[in-house]
Amino acid sequence: MKRYFIASTLMLLGVLCNNAFAKVSVFACEPEWEALAQEIGGGNIKVFTATHAKQDPHHIRARPSFVSKIRRADLVICSGAGLEAGWLPVLMQKASARVQPGTDGYLMASDFVKILEIPNAVDRSMGDIHPEGNPHVHLNPHNILLVGQELLQRLNRIDAANAEFYNERFQNFSSRWQQAIVGWEKDAVPLKEQPVIVHHKSFIYLISWLNLKLVGSLEPRPGIPPTASHLESLLLKVKQGNPVNVIMRASYESAEASEWLSGQTGVPAVMMPYTVGGDNESTDLFSLFDRSISLLIQNTSGNK
Ligand SMILES: [Zn+2]
Repeated sequence: MKRYFIASTLMLLGVLCNNAFAKVSVFACEPEWEALAQEIGGGNIKVFTATHAKQDPHHIRARPSFVSKIRRADLVICSGAGLEAGWLPVLMQKASARVQPGTDGYLMASDFVKILEIPNAVDRSMGDIHPEGNPHVHLNPHNILLVGQELLQRLNRIDAANAEFYNERFQNFSSRWQQAIVGWEKDAVPLKEQPVIVHHKSFIYLISWLNLKLVGSLEPRPGIPPTASHLESLLLKVKQGNPVNVIMRASYESAEASEWLSGQTGVPAVMMPYTVGGDNESTDLFSLFDRSISLLIQNTSGNK
């Protein structure tokens, strides 16, 4: 009896300790949201990231291992606006009630920023994969801050015991981030009005933030791979007096189309990191923007 009592007391203590030190389990759809969660959550959260920078976030196979991760999640953080429409809904069916839409555990970044390129009418037969507007919201650093503010509120409610810890970390991140934005905006002044072509419209928020000029996309429509006839029409456009200074593609996109157009025009084709981990230099959110801006400046200097 005595032994039983000791055993159950130890078990109870174990449960109490576990709860006191349990980390908030975060399921991040993309590396940029993992990085933001780490900035604010630090050692009090444990993040699983479903995709890496070399994967196209529109098209991921929902692996069985994702199911066990999302089942345990206290918070799901994704871009939303349809970016994960091909794979997240099936996972959400297996997720717990605490991360379903409308709860603190369900955070879609695009719900907290201004969405660009919302179509007036959507014709899905045309294959456009941005029917809810452009979901690649993280490439404007002001959006990162807005999503960070919301993430802080969520963590404070999900794990109220550690609210002070999250508030401190957010204040620290926020002041460093706002300072970094001032620096980036200063460095990027020469990029204003620089004409660019993108592979996919994954850079629209960067383009709009830095006041670059979008001349065209290698994809005829978002999500439709480049075709020979569309590339020829872009080539003609450049030759007929529409200068282009950079052709940008994301780290997960094939180089073929941008290298072809570069070969025909002499315009540099540049692989941009797009997200954290997209190249060796982009190891966190700060270096992602440092690197993106320096790549654009390197490749456009001397042009205007
Ligand atoms: Zn897209």
